[in-house]
Amino acid sequence: MSASIKPEEVASYRRLLEGLSDRLRGNVDRMTDEALGRGDDQSNLSNVPLHMADVGTENFDQEFTLGLIQNEQETLRMIDAALDRVDAGGYGACQECGGPIAKARLQALPYTPHCIECARKLENPA
Ligand SMILES: [Zn+2]
Repeated sequence: MSASIKPEEVASYRRLLEGLSDRLRGNVDRMTDEALGRGDDQSNLSNVPLHMADVGTENFDQEFTLGLIQNEQETLRMIDAALDRVDAGGYGACQECGGPIAKARLQALPYTPHCIECARKLENPA
């Protein structure tokens, strides 16, 4: 089953995912450095840790920041998996039911593997 998503849209989601991945990796590295006592305290005061203007919409940044707080490594894993689906041609299709993932959901969570219906089912099994 092919998702109803245009190649040029997939290309823009790929750029979004790659930007996210770079940003998240940088953030994870920084936090790891701080945890290990290698952080540069002076730069922490003046630098904004995330460059919010780089990628996406305000909604997207809100969702992404929540994702950051929840689990950086898990999010990175999901981004990598989403990039694999971009390469394999399956991006935008739900990994559970095979149906298309709504564009609004992809814009908020470009690395999500599931449509909203399946995500709800997986989060709250009946
Ligand atoms: Zn689904």
